[in-house]
Amino acid sequence: MHLTPFQKNLREKILSQGPLSLLEVMGLSNAHYYAEKEVFGREGDFITSPEISQIFGECVAFWIVEQCQREEIYDPILLEMGPGRGTLMRDIVRILSKTKIKPDIHFLETSPKLREFQKENMPEPCVWHDDLRDIPKKFALFLANEFFDALPIQQKVDGVDVYVDYVDDAFVRVPRGGEMIETSPVSLDISKTMAAHLSSYGGAALIIDYGDYTKSERIGETLQAVKQHAYVDPLKHLGDADLTAHVDFKLLSEAFLKKGFRGNFMTQRDFLKAYGFDLRLQKLMEQSLSHDQRQDIQSRAHRLIDPKQMGELFKVLEISL
Ligand code: SAH
Repeated sequence: MHLTPFQKNLREKILSQGPLSLLEVMGLSNAHYYAEKEVFGREGDFITSPEISQIFGECVAFWIVEQCQREEIYDPILLEMGPGRGTLMRDIVRILSKTKIKPDIHFLETSPKLREFQKENMPEPCVWHDDLRDIPKKFALFLANEFFDALPIQQKVDGVDVYVDYVDDAFVRVPRGGEMIETSPVSLDISKTMAAHLSSYGGAALIIDYGDYTKSERIGETLQAVKQHAYVDPLKHLGDADLTAHVDFKLLSEAFLKKGFRGNFMTQRDFLKAYGFDLRLQKLMEQSLSHDQRQDIQSRAHRLIDPKQMGELFKVLEISL
């Protein structure tokens, strides 16, 4: 197997220290991936909702307006976790600039390369953090789109932690077979920090991702890797493909429910429809000049809500008081 420099390092580490937990390997792989690669868009590996249509960010902006109006707080901390190219926040800021809401913009982002993108994309000053515990102690609205799916997971087979070894010229997982359970300790830790902040200083959260709200520990494997818009074998492209797992929304919501917050779980389609999707689409159509432009806008918008595309695969967990 041809190895990249990142994979060679990983192999050396395993050969000298023994197998590494899947949790550690996934964390290392994604950190390298987001630090190095051209991730988003047609040229990259995958495309996300804010990159498909500005309507996505506009609907999220309406959600923000609603939270601020209800609490009568117009200078919230607006914290986006894993903002990618910063497109969602840029679309939000454009809408908010027409209101009396003056947010203080913060990002949680580990990739230096993506921080650069975000800086270029944002017309307003913003602050970056490595750790959620560092954000200012005040009313905050948390946003996360396709963030939690990228956090490392732990797999257990019949109760035993899954490790990654290097055998016969390939990365392999041990043990194999048996009943697999996945959990995401990093997600849990982050959700606890968010819940603690919200309960001390007030605020709300919007978590958008693919996943489900079924059992708190799900049976079966959801780990997957995407490269150039196609699924690939996760262990064959370490550091070089986006490794993700379905988000366990029930587990994620527990930290908030314990602090007395309400969780509202719905499909992306229902969320967008509830926050002005049709109106925004109509506005955009009226403003566009050519027939081709209008068709493009319509088909992109449709992709966000179509049950066969992103409309039902993607879910929204809204956390509020
Ligand atoms: N929300 C964006 C991008 C999603 S990709 C969009 O919708 O287009 C995942 C993002 O999370 C990237 O910005 C990546 O660098 C960031 N990320 C991944 N792991 C992280 C971690 N542990 N801490 C902070 N950011 C992380």
